[in-house]
Amino acid sequence: MESKKEHFKRTLLDLANNENLVPGIYNYCDRWCERCTMTKKCLTYLHEQEMKEGTGHKSPDEENKNFWEQIRVAWEVTMEMIEEDAERLNIDLDDVEDMELPEHIETPLEAKAKEYGTKMYNWLDENQPFIKEQAEKLVMINDEASMIKYKDAMEVIQWYSSFIGAKVHRAHLDLEERKNDPNDEFNIYSDNLGSAKIAIIAIERSMDALSVFYNDFKEKEDDILKFLVELSTIKKQLLQTFPGVMEFKRPGFDD
Ligand code: SF4
Repeated sequence: MESKKEHFKRTLLDLANNENLVPGIYNYCDRWCERCTMTKKCLTYLHEQEMKEGTGHKSPDEENKNFWEQIRVAWEVTMEMIEEDAERLNIDLDDVEDMELPEHIETPLEAKAKEYGTKMYNWLDENQPFIKEQAEKLVMINDEASMIKYKDAMEVIQWYSSFIGAKVHRAHLDLEERKNDPNDEFNIYSDNLGSAKIAIIAIERSMDALSVFYNDFKEKEDDILKFLVELSTIKKQLLQTFPGVMEFKRPGFDD
């Protein structure tokens, strides 16, 4: 019988031959698969589904055990595939020269984006009672449309709160070297651009979602306005740091 590792590898390689998939579509998406419009074109998504199939209903503990097991298998298979490629290319992985990785110094923009995530997390936590109270009021008057509107806006704000900081950070990795490298034959700088672009998209969506609350919750107007200003500043600085970033074509999404 096929082991988990064999199953993981076989299904991954089978799916990779699917011509309907967009290579690299998962590199500059927002990783919000439940809301993604491109699942049928995404190897990551389809493979995750494949691995979930047949697992049936499980308790939360079993689900978590399964999650860590999948991670372990994924790493093992990845390592195995790297070793196979190295052998094919005649590279001895035990004899690779030590590389000195440049130290990354966090830029003020990265710090600002990370700080936004922390502040938003704390704000949402502190305002739980207020949010609950508003939800209860809507239930009382049976206002389903507003309930859905607020729930959707809240999900967007939560999903992107730490995502923005992570992508702004990635956008700055080796930025100057890559940007100014005339021999960037693998176009590594495109990774900075793609990361900056998805960060900007996440910022715009977060701002739209925050404006729903800004219009309706007068009591929280000041707080929300501060968040809007912070996001707007981060976006502006990203546009300045990455000229032409919005022209970058994210595979599958912008073609
Ligand atoms: S492209 Fe869509 S389905 Fe694939 S990983 Fe990203 S969000 Fe998920």
